[in-house]
Amino acid sequence: MAGAYDNRDGVIWMDGTFVPWREAKVHVLTHALHYASSVFEGERAYNGKIFKSREHSERLLKSCDYIDIPRPYTVDELEAAKKEALAKSGLSDAYVRPVVWRGSGEDMGVASARNPVKTAIAVWEWGAYYGDAKMQGAKLDISAWKRPSPETIPCFAKASGLYMICTMSKHAAEAKGCSDALMMDYRGYVAEATGANVFFVKDGAVHTPKPDCFLNGITRQTVIDLLKEKNIEVIERHIEPSEMEGFEQCWLTGTAAEVTPVGKIGDFTFEVGALTRDIAETYEKLVRS
Ligand code: PMP
Repeated sequence: MAGAYDNRDGVIWMDGTFVPWREAKVHVLTHALHYASSVFEGERAYNGKIFKSREHSERLLKSCDYIDIPRPYTVDELEAAKKEALAKSGLSDAYVRPVVWRGSGEDMGVASARNPVKTAIAVWEWGAYYGDAKMQGAKLDISAWKRPSPETIPCFAKASGLYMICTMSKHAAEAKGCSDALMMDYRGYVAEATGANVFFVKDGAVHTPKPDCFLNGITRQTVIDLLKEKNIEVIERHIEPSEMEGFEQCWLTGTAAEVTPVGKIGDFTFEVGALTRDIAETYEKLVRS
């Protein structure tokens, strides 16, 4: 299965029924397309089982709450639907994308209370998110865009509207030959990459930005637990960009990114060191256990 995402074989789960992949469509006057009234998840299945599936379903529904979309299903209903969608895909290692949005209906203005809430789940094969950077260390640009303050937008939701500046940052990064961009927050502290959280190593301790204005990723939380089990100190705090000069190692975490070593951020360089390799391997073992 490959090619354009709207032109593939298979089926997509749409509100309880499986629709042929090429027919899983929405109308151009879909509210979400105009006003970003949409939330989604990104999950990975390994050996036929979705890693931390329940946590992702819970986050999807919390994202609905954050952006005022009525919860369309319960966690159990989503779990059953995802399981079925994965089984229908015939894949054992796969990426799972549930999405909930305000559809087309009586409203076409900013308000959308009268429009139906729609849900879909697509499953496809997705290899390493950063390609061969997984081995060599990804090269990151520093984004001109800042993660917004919690007063500006529901920043803890995995909501489409939050990704506009991520897409723009990533385009700018790719134009410079980088795989991704690191974003600072509205105060100027180091925040996260466009679809992954960031970790640094210095003198045997791990430093990672405090998630007080961006997604506290499920992979981030998993990796922190793994580090603590290894008796490695993890310091969650505000990090100034200039501190990157003194950091020895760096990696990104995310469902798609898994644990991806970083070799360069702007002019700051990092080695793909022993701890980075170790945590990437430990994570890989855990998701397949
Ligand atoms: N930040 C952003 C902006 C993301 O899109 C993601 C991927 N969902 C993450 C962090 C990492 O989250 P998770 O580990 O839950 O995939």
